[in-house]
Amino acid sequence: MLKAAITGVRKAELVQAEMPRARDNWVVVRTTIIPMCTEYKAFTAGIQTAFLGHEAVGVVEEVAQPGRVAVGDHVVVMPLFPCGVCDLCVAGDYIHCEHGVNPAVSTGSPEGAATYAEYVVKQDWLLPRIPDDVSDELAGLALCALGPTMGALERMQVDAFDTVLITGTGPVGLGGVVNASYRGARVLVAEGIPWRADKARELGAAQVFDPADPEIAAQIRQATGWVGVDAALDCSGTVAAERLCIDAVRRRGQVAYVGECDQPLEVRISPDMIRKGISIHGSWHYNLNLYPKIVQVLRNAPNAAKLISHILPFAEVQKALEICASHECAKVLLRAGV
Ligand SMILES: [Zn+2]
Ligand SMILES: [Zn+2]
Repeated sequence: MLKAAITGVRKAELVQAEMPRARDNWVVVRTTIIPMCTEYKAFTAGIQTAFLGHEAVGVVEEVAQPGRVAVGDHVVVMPLFPCGVCDLCVAGDYIHCEHGVNPAVSTGSPEGAATYAEYVVKQDWLLPRIPDDVSDELAGLALCALGPTMGALERMQVDAFDTVLITGTGPVGLGGVVNASYRGARVLVAEGIPWRADKARELGAAQVFDPADPEIAAQIRQATGWVGVDAALDCSGTVAAERLCIDAVRRRGQVAYVGECDQPLEVRISPDMIRKGISIHGSWHYNLNLYPKIVQVLRNAPNAAKLISHILPFAEVQKALEICASHECAKVLLRAGV
């Protein structure tokens, strides 16, 4: 089979690899759609690797034992390799599992663990079926495009009574605009890249604010009658935006962080938390039990398909990574098997 490798600075190509094989509850899936995520960072930094990607959609190719999926099923390949038996996994919160397994040990081969490949392996319980009326392209949004913000908005129970601020509208934040709009919320956005600001408006954002403007917190408060937003959701992973979420949220409001960041954020417990009475959530992905709700968004949100800005053949992975690195894109999909 073919898989993608980064072979130098801004250099990616397809290379030959061994086919993964099914074993126990490990299933081989032939990829049809490979959604692109943060891999462009390794591409621009020239970090050489032949194991790229954690998102995939495809068709079940081989099973080793009767289980939750059958050959020919179209499935979403969920991220990570959680244990499947701890309390978190059983409850559907597998993303927070502390006992992840090594697929190379479990299947006898390292191939198939990374998703920029023609075939991948995954435990059968992490392969939710795609209904016949949902395309594989659209199902590609059920991972990091719509997933992280689905989990966060569900956690904050955002609905049509709420105004929600989304900071950072890369593919994850744009997915947040789709999710929050679908729930009927009024969506405000903080985004500095013009292409992404325009895309956020197209997907339903009522107003877009410039994060470089020192008055942005006051502007957002003004846009809510000086009350503050009901919920704020950072998808940028920048400290300034993380802080803006706390400053822009109303008293008794909620903040959720889905953008990864390892820089410290200053939070003053009395003025920021106790006296405002806010709740702060860390949220990564969505509980497996929310998959039917994601399918509802795919089926019924009028703007969901607009989250896909580019679809390129797998062979054009180099060009696709350049598009991701340009930041002038929403979700970029690779089409495999053509
Ligand atoms: Zn587990
Ligand atoms: Zn991702």
